[in-house]
Amino acid sequence: MSGLLRIRWAIAPQIAPRPLLNCNRCGGVKPYRCSGKFRVNANGKRIDAWLIYRCTGCDNSWNFTIFERCNRRDIEPALLAAFESNDPALAQRHAIDAVALRTRSGQIEEFHDVTVKKEPLDGRPEGATALWLELRLDAATPLRLDRLLAGELGISRSRLQTWQERQLLAIEPDGAKALRRPARDGTAVSGEADRNAIAAAACG
Ligand SMILES: [Zn+2]
Repeated sequence: MSGLLRIRWAIAPQIAPRPLLNCNRCGGVKPYRCSGKFRVNANGKRIDAWLIYRCTGCDNSWNFTIFERCNRRDIEPALLAAFESNDPALAQRHAIDAVALRTRSGQIEEFHDVTVKKEPLDGRPEGATALWLELRLDAATPLRLDRLLAGELGISRSRLQTWQERQLLAIEPDGAKALRRPARDGTAVSGEADRNAIAAAACG
């Protein structure tokens, strides 16, 4: 279809969530920050791996369990080497996993800041009159879809709402309800848009 610009937005949390833990040294609930270091216990057949967090008040440590008592045969040697060498990309991948972190720690502090990498799939911004956006998220963000779209397209949230009410905007799955929820992996947003929004959707 001519005039349609298809773009993929790869969205990643900019700041990793922090577990809120009762620090027995500080004597109260404190955010803990990721140290970027793993602790691996690889004696015998069983392997444990934890990502180490430190209290922001006193440096007390807390272990975020990645796996426990795992059979050595079930772990790729390259993955084990990455844990043992504190591979930064591996540490980051676990540190941004808000769901797992919340399960282990009970309570977390999340941040709304995200980075958005925009990758045109099909069509050209020049002369485009409609947009089709595909959202890709490797990790959860608390950022609402309407705030993400308004910020990245350079439009107000009320304008977005109007587009939605006039059915100029389609969101799959969940339609309008998705606007007020955190942006999710696999969401597709499409609709007619003006030149400024189209330019903003494609770059920056
Ligand atoms: Zn502390």
